[in-house]
Amino acid sequence: MPYTPRLLDQIALLTGMRDIELLEFSLLKTLSEVTQPTAISLLRLDKNDHPTSMLRYRREGRHEVDFGDIELPAEVVDLLPVVKRTRKPHSRRGEDGNFLTIYLGAESQTADSYLLATTDHPPANDTKRLYTCFLQIYQNFCALLDESQRDPLTGLPNRKTFEDSINKVLGLIPHRPLPAATSDRATSYWLGIIDIDRFKSINDTFGHLYGDEVLLLVAQLMQRHFRGGDLLFRYGGEEFVAIIAGADQEGAKSAFDRLRASVAGHPFPQIGEVTISIGVVQIMPDALTPTLLDMADRALYYAKQNGRNQVCLYEELVEHGVIEPHLVDLNPMEYF
Ligand code: GH3
Ligand code: MG
Ligand code: MG
Repeated sequence: MPYTPRLLDQIALLTGMRDIELLEFSLLKTLSEVTQPTAISLLRLDKNDHPTSMLRYRREGRHEVDFGDIELPAEVVDLLPVVKRTRKPHSRRGEDGNFLTIYLGAESQTADSYLLATTDHPPANDTKRLYTCFLQIYQNFCALLDESQRDPLTGLPNRKTFEDSINKVLGLIPHRPLPAATSDRATSYWLGIIDIDRFKSINDTFGHLYGDEVLLLVAQLMQRHFRGGDLLFRYGGEEFVAIIAGADQEGAKSAFDRLRASVAGHPFPQIGEVTISIGVVQIMPDALTPTLLDMADRALYYAKQNGRNQVCLYEELVEHGVIEPHLVDLNPMEYF
């Protein structure tokens, strides 16, 4: 193979990456440069087979990413189940005479990805093998990354993943206030710190194994309770963080309160009743993550001091004058 040294360089480069989006882009770029397809893209589907993102790379070097409402061409819809079932690449000639080939990409607990390549001739066996090998490296890498990003006990994304995700959420929120007509529910995000009440005494009374079981059950109730697009994390020992979108203040409070009620009403085997307290704050685009966490933590502390088994909103508590607001962050230069 004339391009072997270049491919080895690319493999070395790909396996050194730690960011999945950058890795996917480089994967498409490498395969595109080496095999020269007319178009190449990576499609991600959720577990209900709804497309959630499509990363496209074209020969001219342009690339684009679509999220959300992605309409798939009929031939893609036809071929995907075949590839999924047989776990092998399949090709089909389209009406324009081009060949579409779909390869299985990576599978995880939450999503599956497929590589789509369009060529003006049927792909040679060597090309298919090359794609399959590269996708195997990609799949191994995704599995490693997934493992390092999840808490092994509950399967939820861990604290490190939270730090990366919240920065992406902050990037999604418009920095200037939107005109009244467009400032709808979809633009507000809320962060809640969820802390199990008197968890130490659960461990002390029943032992750590029962404590772990409670953590697992609370995580499952959270996953059942919140929507697919909401972000859930195991933040620390018996603390979880949820970032929910698309609700106003009342909506956010009642979403968290429904979780509180469902935990309080759940019969925990042997232990009986377990309760949680939650501190909630609205995510403002200019806020720093430590500031948001401090605000939610103040609301949580208030909930703990005032009877536990309740949801407290930072903004409400400040408005009612019952907690001190977080002081505006000083510019780091002002410390010197
Ligand atoms: P509060 O209602 O004020 O939140 O009281 P608490 O007892 O829940 O809070 P505290 O912070 O005093 O205790 C938290 C306990 O959580 C202490 C620690 O041993 C336990 N813990 C932390 N991580 C784990 C874990 O992974 N498994 C188990 N079983 N226990 C854990
Ligand atoms: Mg705690
Ligand atoms: Mg606790």
